[in-house]
Amino acid sequence: MKVFLSVDMEGISGIVDNTYINPDAGVNYQRGRKFMTDDANAVIEAAIEAGATEIVVADSHNTMNNILWESLHPKGKLLAGSPRNSSMMQGLDESFDAALFVGYHTRQGVPGVLSHTMSGVIRNLYINGRVVGEFGFNAYYAGWFNVPVVMVSGDDLIAEEAKDLIPGISTAVVKKAVSRTAALCLSREEATAELKQKTKLALSKIGQIAPLTTTVPMEMAIQFAHTGQAEMAAIVPGSRYETETGTLSYTAQDPHDLYKTMRAMLNLAAGVEFF
Ligand code: ZN
Repeated sequence: MKVFLSVDMEGISGIVDNTYINPDAGVNYQRGRKFMTDDANAVIEAAIEAGATEIVVADSHNTMNNILWESLHPKGKLLAGSPRNSSMMQGLDESFDAALFVGYHTRQGVPGVLSHTMSGVIRNLYINGRVVGEFGFNAYYAGWFNVPVVMVSGDDLIAEEAKDLIPGISTAVVKKAVSRTAALCLSREEATAELKQKTKLALSKIGQIAPLTTTVPMEMAIQFAHTGQAEMAAIVPGSRYETETGTLSYTAQDPHDLYKTMRAMLNLAAGVEFF
């Protein structure tokens, strides 16, 4: 059994605010890296017990150099560093039996610990008209390869966001959101137990959880935080700009095209200052 882990940071056990996820923020970031590695290890260990023979771990936060390689489970192959054409999902293809999303968070504009979608420039992101966050975008990407996302870990609200898109998905809830930067966190021991239990449950249900699919080619739409960002991102060939809503649309011909184009638009938009 071949398993793909995409490991983000905002939904990791014990992490509640920016000091844990920003490399420039200080001592808590070093603790956050350890928490992230511990969460990944719990999932890897349980996956092996459930029969996984190959495990790829894609570090999926910021510059994607957060997981402590020297402390990662010996059976986990670590995909670290950036840039990557398919970012959080780089390396996934149709050879995988399942994907598990660890340390994920809710989408931009809704409650949840450190909620956002990809970067600060996105107000709303849509796939074929359906609003999605990183969970949904990456799940549709996996679905294009016919790979099911069988487990998500994070706060109680990303668990709900995930279940809306993928009924039956296993959810490891390691904290309860109190505000965008506060949460009631399980202890290390309890969080590890939750991650292991839900990983085993998820991998026992492969075949019962359908990949998240939609009609292809996929229509991606990005509503930007302000119009200057949308106007800059509209440089991307093939994009269509709807001025009334500040939204760029694009028809992606394959999953690589989908991810690369989204990243190109975000990188262009990121260079535009509001004032
Ligand atoms: Zn992140």
